[in-house]
Amino acid sequence: MLVICLDLEGVLVPEIWIAFAEKTGIKKLRLTTRDIPDYDELMQGRLKILNENNLKLSDIEEVIGGIAPLPGAKEFLSSLESEFQVIILSDTFNQFAGPLMAQLDYPTLFCHDLIIDKSGKISDYRLRIPDAKTKAVAALKKLNLKVIAAGDSYNDTGMLKEADAGILFRAPNNVVKEFPQFPVTQTYEEFKTAILAASDKLGR
Ligand SMILES: [Mg+2]
Repeated sequence: MLVICLDLEGVLVPEIWIAFAEKTGIKKLRLTTRDIPDYDELMQGRLKILNENNLKLSDIEEVIGGIAPLPGAKEFLSSLESEFQVIILSDTFNQFAGPLMAQLDYPTLFCHDLIIDKSGKISDYRLRIPDAKTKAVAALKKLNLKVIAAGDSYNDTGMLKEADAGILFRAPNNVVKEFPQFPVTQTYEEFKTAILAASDKLGR
């Protein structure tokens, strides 16, 4: 049995924080792990900005509700799901991903949670487990499943290495250079072809 583990942002949907920054016009929300490598520092900064601008979860849900999956993503995912078991492993939050999952027909998603206070403000965040993607792939392998993992960023390279086969999709040049062992794909057609090639090798 074979499971495909896909990253979400940059693979099926746009970068949520960048889209949110654009919609709200708050430039500081464009900062990502590429600018601030310490994830906790980055998240605390984001929460502070949300608080200063009196942005509640409902405001964010409204903005995210207007974001669409990447062109062709829904068709790609549904064609993949017709042939394989697919799990989306993301470092985003359930509350952010919700409206986008609806547009993708509710695929299985493992990610993290925001902590919302009584007034509807985001007071904190809770990682389900550190290095969640890599650990999910390792756990699936323990269940005697073969895993193909695909993503676009540094936070995916752990799961790509852990998986039986790893694939990069629209990854930035520095990631491609640093991880030459993974095939690089740019279109959903190439992506599907690479997945099929890996699954043939693994004997699905
Ligand atoms: Mg990504």
